[in-house]
Amino acid sequence: MATENIPNATAKRLPIYYRYLNILADSGKTRISSTELAEAVKVDSATIRRDFSYFGALGKRGYGYDIASLVEFFKKVLNQDRLTNVALIGVGNLGHALLNFNFHGGSNVRISAAFDINEEIAGTIQSGVPIYPMSDMKEQLNAQQIEIAILTVPAPVAQKVTDELTETGIKGILNFTPLRINVPEHMRVQNVDLTNELQTLIYFLDRFGTEDE
Ligand code: ATP
Repeated sequence: MATENIPNATAKRLPIYYRYLNILADSGKTRISSTELAEAVKVDSATIRRDFSYFGALGKRGYGYDIASLVEFFKKVLNQDRLTNVALIGVGNLGHALLNFNFHGGSNVRISAAFDINEEIAGTIQSGVPIYPMSDMKEQLNAQQIEIAILTVPAPVAQKVTDELTETGIKGILNFTPLRINVPEHMRVQNVDLTNELQTLIYFLDRFGTEDE
């Protein structure tokens, strides 16, 4: 399966397809055309066909796509057929919200360990997740074979904590800090800058208004 070289934009759409196809499967639907799928997930059908083509011809002309086999297929591609444990570093306001949320609702990802420098919260359990002191991080990440970390520490210490993470088995960081962190080549960073997203939205609304205006 040629999943190594798929474009970033395609990779980002896969969870959207997966989530929607699951909803369809649950509702008892067995097949869907790329046009129907396009309307539901707000991605044009040519893009959907191109995205799917990276994984071989999954659809049949005049029939559309078989939902059950697509769900099975994306489940494997997205590693949803096994539980992925992730760690959270920095249990402040945002970190705590993410612990509470903990990716419930059908996803096979969960935060199984959290870490914080604050000794008052280290050793406690929050939203069912144990909080460990930073001094235990390397050992815990290795013991739990955790490869993904969510970074919700203050920006000024983000690079320092990242450097500590590079000495563990972590391969990917979901970076919620506004800092653009540097990692070695074998690691990957996905940035989620909420303030930036909101400012972009405000900018677009100010400049272009809404579609109805
Ligand atoms: P947020 O920015 O998520 O709203 P906050 O304002 O409550 O959080 P911050 O000062 O941003 O708090 O810190 C987030 C968390 O990161 C805190 O719980 C803090 O103890 C923790 N933290 C700070 N420095 C470090 C560090 N070097 N390593 C690990 N955790 C840290």
